[in-house]
Amino acid sequence: MSIPSNVAKEIAISPIDVSHTRNIGIISHIDAGKTTVTERILFYSGETHKMGEVHDGQAVMDWMPQEQERGITITASATSCRWGEYRLNLIDTPGHIDFTIEVERSVRVLDGAVAIFSAVEGVQPQSELVWRQADRYRVPRVCLINKMDRMGADYRNVLSQMEQRLGARPVLLQLPFGAEAGFSGVIDLLTEEFLTFSEQDQGRTMVSGAVPQEAVEAVREARLQLTEIAADFDDRVMAAFLEGAKVETSLLREALRQGTLTCQVFPVLFGSALRNKGVQPVLDAVCLYLPSPSEVASLVARKPGGSDPEPVLCDPERPLAALAFKVMAEEGRRLTYLRIYSGTIKAGASLLNATRGNSERVRHLFHMHAHKREEVAEAAAGDIVAVTGCQSTLTGDTLCDPAHPLVLEGMTVPEPVVSIAVEAKGVEDRAGLLTSLEYFQWEDPTFRVHEDQETGQTILTGMGELHLEVVIDRLRREYGVQVKTGRPRVVFREALRREVERREVFQALTEKRQERAEILLRLVPLSRGSGVRIVLPQPAPPITAELLATVE
Ligand code: GDP
Repeated sequence: MSIPSNVAKEIAISPIDVSHTRNIGIISHIDAGKTTVTERILFYSGETHKMGEVHDGQAVMDWMPQEQERGITITASATSCRWGEYRLNLIDTPGHIDFTIEVERSVRVLDGAVAIFSAVEGVQPQSELVWRQADRYRVPRVCLINKMDRMGADYRNVLSQMEQRLGARPVLLQLPFGAEAGFSGVIDLLTEEFLTFSEQDQGRTMVSGAVPQEAVEAVREARLQLTEIAADFDDRVMAAFLEGAKVETSLLREALRQGTLTCQVFPVLFGSALRNKGVQPVLDAVCLYLPSPSEVASLVARKPGGSDPEPVLCDPERPLAALAFKVMAEEGRRLTYLRIYSGTIKAGASLLNATRGNSERVRHLFHMHAHKREEVAEAAAGDIVAVTGCQSTLTGDTLCDPAHPLVLEGMTVPEPVVSIAVEAKGVEDRAGLLTSLEYFQWEDPTFRVHEDQETGQTILTGMGELHLEVVIDRLRREYGVQVKTGRPRVVFREALRREVERREVFQALTEKRQERAEILLRLVPLSRGSGVRIVLPQPAPPITAELLATVE
């Protein structure tokens, strides 16, 4: 590590208590604006002094070269920042389906999320998929309808898609003011302020003014609707609503917070991240409506080998329970990201990996800040921290106090579906190939390597062609290893079925085209090891007589 370990002693332990910590992720369809929003968050919170843009390859969170070139987010980079008295541990998650495990592992350790939708494209298949992942782990969400400046922006359409496709009940915290190029700010329905964002300092200065006259009636109506929704969660709001009395902002917030924490409602805000409008209120909403680690329904753990589940409480004084949710190889060493659910970890501590039954010694602890890292001497329940020193811990493993062994509920890891044969180009590439493939397996539970018994070839399996393409690209760039590759092949029937379900059937069903979905499922003639190339048509071809004949 470049930071000497005595720095840890100089860095005061953060005075932020757990009630002011928010572990959040940003989830959405690819291109909805996650990376652009994240860049604004880091800028407004003082983490960066210059705003990177996706289109010029300067986004801080997209630090891998492939991410900058392709303009997509591949790894779930975790970063910490401050927002007022709060510490936000922010995990950027990729939008492409091939990296769905990154979303899965982020969602598993998050307490809340910001779901971003494009005001033009609305709810898209990938937004639906990540929304369901968040549903599965009961992650409370606030929503940002982004790209309000774009031609064709239609937020009402997005709201109705949220209701119909996601089965979600949105509650508007704001009304947008102006549309498309005329989008000039947002009206806060609780405080009844018109918020605009200074162009001089890239939106850092937020100006509060009176509600413009032409919007007064719409605001009155929208506030009434908000009050009616809030009334479902608080009898005092209900009483006031029935009397037609105006309800205080703090009471409305309390009621809406209840609804949000239990995933019964999803607060909605508006913005244009690219035009630097509306991102700061999203951060306020994260602090106001999303849970602190101690408010999340307590997790259960078991003693290794079985036993009744016992609750894990977010308390730094109790025995340690931490879940490894990401491992990264750094110059041959491992950086392991941990979500600490209970207890405290100190640098130098000896821990038990209860999943594997071996001990691990933590050397250094870090709060990660995209490019840089801040060494800390200890981290406690509720926090997300990256550690060095772990030798064999993998994603999904539990680290705990050796005197109190326990195993946390792991995470669902999907089976890889596509395989490709690789071969070192030259003799000099052979050793590097094996070492780097081992590192990739540390990092990615959906990436596997094995030797084909018949041909002796090295076979890589992953979640899709793009996934494997990125691996091959990383071999070349990060490890200087040149390889020759065969054609991608489908791994086995069950895996393909899942892949088909995920990609096509899911899309077909959501579009209510059951018939097409069924045909797609039967389209690919399969048998174990049949080696069908997995290029599912995007979009799927129309169903013709010839196509139907292939299915019979
Ligand atoms: P991600 O794939 O969800 O991370 O989305 P990005 O942040 O990479 O954004 C995708 C594209 O949309 C980029 O070209 C952004 O510059 C652009 N973009 C993001 N937010 C906005 C916005 O509010 N308005 C407009 N017009 N473009 C935006």
